[in-house]
Amino acid sequence: MKIYFNKPHNSQKEIQNIVNCIKSGKISGDGYYTDLCNKWFLKEFGRKILLTHSCTCALEMMAILLDLKKDDEIIMPSYSFVSTANAFVLTGAKPVFVDIKQNTLNIDENLVEKAVTKKTKAIVAVHYAGVSCEMDKLQKIAKKHNLYLLEDSALGFYGAYKNKPLGTIGDLGAYSFHETKNIISGEGGCLIINNKKFKDRAEIIREKGTNRSKFLRGEVDKYSWVDIGSSYLPSDLISAFLYAQLQNSKKITQNRIKIWNKYHNFFEKYESAGLINRPFVPEYCKHNGSIYYILFQNLKNRTKFIEYLKKNNIFSSFHYIPLHSSVAGKKYCKISSTMDVTNKISDTLVRMPLFYNMTEKQLEKIFKVTEIFFDKVI
Ligand SMILES: *Cc1c(COP(=O)(O)O)cnc(C)c1O
Repeated sequence: MKIYFNKPHNSQKEIQNIVNCIKSGKISGDGYYTDLCNKWFLKEFGRKILLTHSCTCALEMMAILLDLKKDDEIIMPSYSFVSTANAFVLTGAKPVFVDIKQNTLNIDENLVEKAVTKKTKAIVAVHYAGVSCEMDKLQKIAKKHNLYLLEDSALGFYGAYKNKPLGTIGDLGAYSFHETKNIISGEGGCLIINNKKFKDRAEIIREKGTNRSKFLRGEVDKYSWVDIGSSYLPSDLISAFLYAQLQNSKKITQNRIKIWNKYHNFFEKYESAGLINRPFVPEYCKHNGSIYYILFQNLKNRTKFIEYLKKNNIFSSFHYIPLHSSVAGKKYCKISSTMDVTNKISDTLVRMPLFYNMTEKQLEKIFKVTEIFFDKVI
């Protein structure tokens, strides 16, 4: 029995929707299923969203919306995916990295204010593993220094901070529907517009810099090139897949949280024994079961564990390589604090297999192999 790290799930409704979409004769962007997705988001989160090809695209749209100039600074964690930084570098702006916190692995809000300069334009909150950053504190800093607060909520679908859904708190937010996330469409994402000021221009940027969206709604009688932009809208085939996932999204999330809890209970004894650390979720945060990770004391034991699982046909994974240590990170970004926690976490974190259809039997095997590892191998 091979246990993969991730296994994309579909409920068959996805296939039916795609067939319907093809039969309808309209498969380009902003069709029937995109509209259904938009309405779903409006009802569920009370927000206007724009579907994109990826979370990366949504982050790029944020960077364009902010009208950044060369060397404007954006504060963010180094412990994140490439796109969090790259989206801003494309506009000539400079990511400024701040270390993360040992407990949530999110940006250390106590180091953020020190990173603010005259050039700072925004703070990006990356909600690692669907556990929220300290949004009240970040919002306070943003307000005081007149900065935008952005949420890279790629991993945050159905996570919440003090009952507010992640992605809906800052000025702009973004989700990813990549097949490794909770709710998927292969590649996919969306921009969430919380600050109304960005509403009209976001539509234009997404539609190649034209006011085609207004034209489609009958608000103007022809459309033309009015601003900069690109083609960020997904085919309706993608939205057809996504819509089935959205309809199933509560069940998917609940199931993932159930598996997450089983891991959490299982690993408790090893945390008590001082061998690992488990994830920490502040009581006012609701996570979404997107990632179950454990932290080893050092790189050597982490490597041994991943290899031991692999020998037993169980595929686990490490996560982000710190952006500040990468070739492009060194060239285009700067750091504003030590990166001690970021470096340590990157060396010691293991993500366990976690997917919707994971069986009791698979979990049992993982637990058994892990027990042997802790008994005999280290
Ligand atoms: C996955 C991920 C992204 C990128 O999402 P795509 O949809 O693949 O572009 C961005 N940021 C974070 C934090 C991620 O985990």
